[in-house]
Amino acid sequence: MQPLTPGQRENLRQALEDLAEALRRQIERGAEGARPVALDQPIGRLSRMEAIAQQKMTEATRRASAQRLNRVEAARQRLREDIYGTCASCEEPIGWARLEARPEAPLCLGCQKEREGRRA
Ligand SMILES: [Zn+2]
Repeated sequence: MQPLTPGQRENLRQALEDLAEALRRQIERGAEGARPVALDQPIGRLSRMEAIAQQKMTEATRRASAQRLNRVEAARQRLREDIYGTCASCEEPIGWARLEARPEAPLCLGCQKEREGRRA
């Protein structure tokens, strides 16, 4: 895999910045949606269950966004430390194609697959 060119690196730096901003906004919006359901509201039993299901979904989405934001922030930290684009496991370049699709990826595709394989 080829190391990143300065242009690609700048491209990904910008992408990570945009991604962090978008995720932050999404998490803020999610926090509003995840407000507890008021159980003393005169709403029917079914709509209350729907409201609770909706709330759980919002919360799951918010949690996923928060986790992705953590990975994005970690990637931005690696950029600052000048180790961005290098696999955290095998230390080979991660490669432009993978980073373009997933700029926060800390691992090359091979190591990611290996990790997922162990988990399965
Ligand atoms: Zn690797």
